[in-house]
Amino acid sequence: MLLHRLTHMVSCKEATRLISQSEERRFSLGERIKLRLHLAACTACARFERQLAFMRDAMSRYRK
Ligand SMILES: [Zn+2]
Repeated sequence: MLLHRLTHMVSCKEATRLISQSEERRFSLGERIKLRLHLAACTACARFERQLAFMRDAMSRYRK
């Protein structure tokens, strides 16, 4: 199935690596699409992204 193949183009390991790099560098369109697809299908990585966003938000508040 095509959707299954697309969402598994990145492993969870790759997805979490991309998520943690998201503030340091710009992703290519392909990377963004792969990550979005993975996050749409994988609740564990989607949760990781939300936690990281929350942490960054909290940190940026703290720095002010
Ligand atoms: Zn995942």
